[in-house]
Amino acid sequence: MYVCQLTINCLQDIELSSAQSVIAKLLDEYRYNGQIIGREFPIIFNGEFFEVIFVCPEQDSLSERYNNEAVNEAFENLSLQGLSLPEFEVKGLESHSDFTDLCHEPTALVIYSTFVQSCSPVRCLEHFSPVPLYKLPEQTRKSLVKWQESYGACDQLQMNEVQQIEQGAVQQLSESNSDLMLQAQKLADDIEANLKTPVYRYLYRVGGDSLAEEQARKCPSCHGEWLLEQPLHDLFDFKCDACGLLSNISWDWQ
Ligand SMILES: [Zn+2]
Ligand SMILES: [Zn+2]
Repeated sequence: MYVCQLTINCLQDIELSSAQSVIAKLLDEYRYNGQIIGREFPIIFNGEFFEVIFVCPEQDSLSERYNNEAVNEAFENLSLQGLSLPEFEVKGLESHSDFTDLCHEPTALVIYSTFVQSCSPVRCLEHFSPVPLYKLPEQTRKSLVKWQESYGACDQLQMNEVQQIEQGAVQQLSESNSDLMLQAQKLADDIEANLKTPVYRYLYRVGGDSLAEEQARKCPSCHGEWLLEQPLHDLFDFKCDACGLLSNISWDWQ
């Protein structure tokens, strides 16, 4: 991932709040299109121009060829409000985040996220690197961002052990027919139909009575064998190709 800066000049007198709202709209649309990553972006006003710093998946994520219609409309609104078109500068490599997947055509994908993850929730299954949303079918991008927000919220609640809600949150993350996982199924189907690439869903797993019982666990959907000989990416112990599911041996028994 790369840290980028966007600079927007004021070409005429403009209310600060109006300028902030059209800039915030552009950032929202960029985020829903996967061109920038994260939730909160400080907008610095220097009297004559605005500066925004954020993280992008690739050096050329803000290239026009990745813009969708909503991003282009947000650009037009900047001009209508008397602001210049943004200038972009890549500041450097972001040292904490995952590298974007380099595959031209990944052989398989997985929908995966966590409470701390802000990069794309779709990863190449071979390299386990995130695939920018603007390289996925357009109709799935914003829905994937919304799905990731819900997933992150459930994961955060169970990590923080908010007791009255923890069980429901874990169900959402770990049952193949929960609302969250059915949404993931719909997104997986859409991506699969468009890219002709298998798309797996990950089922989180905690609890269980013993390691032996965990290892004997069957696919929750088709009840077939799905234990892998070797864990994949030190994370997935189970994989069912027929159902497109991945899971782990319960975190309580590892
Ligand atoms: Zn890859
Ligand atoms: Zn199965």
